[in-house]
Amino acid sequence: MANHYDYLIVGAGLFGAVCAYELGKKGKTCLVIDKRSHVGGNLYTELLAVTHVHRYGAHVFHTDNKKIWDYLNKFGEFNNFINAPIARYHDELYNLPFNMNTFTKLWPDVLTPADAQRRIAAEREAAKIDQPQNLQEQAISMVGTTIFEKLIKGYTEKQWGRPCTELSPAIIARLPVRYTFNNNYYHDRYQGVPVAGYTDIIEKMLAQATVRLQCDFFQQRERLTALADKIIYTGPIDQFYNYRFGVLEYRSLRFETEILNQQSFQGNAVVNYTAADVPYTRIIEHKHFYGTQQPQTVITREYPLAWQKGREPYYPINDATNNALYERYRQLADQETTVYFGGRLAQYQYLDMATVIEEALNLTATLLKNKKT
Ligand code: FAD
Ligand code: UDP
Repeated sequence: MANHYDYLIVGAGLFGAVCAYELGKKGKTCLVIDKRSHVGGNLYTELLAVTHVHRYGAHVFHTDNKKIWDYLNKFGEFNNFINAPIARYHDELYNLPFNMNTFTKLWPDVLTPADAQRRIAAEREAAKIDQPQNLQEQAISMVGTTIFEKLIKGYTEKQWGRPCTELSPAIIARLPVRYTFNNNYYHDRYQGVPVAGYTDIIEKMLAQATVRLQCDFFQQRERLTALADKIIYTGPIDQFYNYRFGVLEYRSLRFETEILNQQSFQGNAVVNYTAADVPYTRIIEHKHFYGTQQPQTVITREYPLAWQKGREPYYPINDATNNALYERYRQLADQETTVYFGGRLAQYQYLDMATVIEEALNLTATLLKNKKT
């Protein structure tokens, strides 16, 4: 380990790894630390029963930006997996996102897009919603009350631990509603998962950097800070400032993984369980990301969990109170001259992988332009 580095990068997730690669390419020395025992952050995949298992939830890469797609493909080959989840409500199965396959199965008298539009409009009018004020009203105005009751209410209330009437309309507004027979969850042109797993990609990005695992920044903050000229920090922003204004809230998750001695458990990579009486929100069957045929299969149940300090923070609760709190931390961060903040935890935002890459590339481009770096 060298005595001094140009950059200390806190977090070996996607944001930190892209920064390390870009800075290393230009001759900057980087020390990358992570408190976990592995690299990759939430993208981490590990081999179990010959399958690259997504340890922190299903990750499907998708983007419309060819530059970002080409950039990531330099580090590993992607397959052509298309995310087409199934929703299970008790013993009924439906296609997601909401589209003509969902509508025709739900309502046997709906045969055309016009029939579906009429049906949903009638339900919306009966619910008398003018301007949606919460997630429940937003969902009903998008897809009507039948779909809200069967496919949205139970899933959402489990996921967020709050009634739909107390959640922001923005959470659901990003789900596509299509009047075509198209089960592709995303609109994006480029989509897939890496055939050798995400960990392999992150390891390639980190090849030039010095990496220290099981190394928590806050356990040796002064010593680590003294090791580098500048810091790129991808951990929680409130923790960086010792929670001085208060704690930002998150929703957590618990994953339960099992290896089963059968060819296929559910015939699809992702099945959402939308009924309130099932404690998990989804089951992932990892082999279907890759289309492989081995005799065993690995499944992961995803249980939503209340977050408290010490548990993994997954989804930021971007309500008005937390956003205002984040804004106060962001103003402090803006005043830093040798610390740069990036990634989902430092920005207190749900960020897709493509956005993370784009933002890390923007940050490193700015840093490398600045002669003083
Ligand atoms: P992280 O991956 O969280 O990396 C941050 C790293 O910092 C972590 O490894 C952490 O251990 C480390 N760290 C934190 N504090 C410290 C400390 N004090 N000291 C040392 N290290 C520290 N995106 C998509 O594009 N497609 C998907 O299908 C998709 N699915 C998702 C499913 C789930 C369930 C979730 C929660 C997210 C999903 N995402 C998806 C988003 C994706 O996970 C993020 O874009 C990505 O993980 C962000 O990378 P990051 O580097 O910002 O954060
Ligand atoms: N959602 C739902 N039923 C589903 C899938 C999604 O009600 O079967 C809602 C839910 O509120 C969720 C939101 O849509 O939080 C966004 O879904 P997305 O799949 O983008 O998020 P994820 O569940 O993967 O975090």
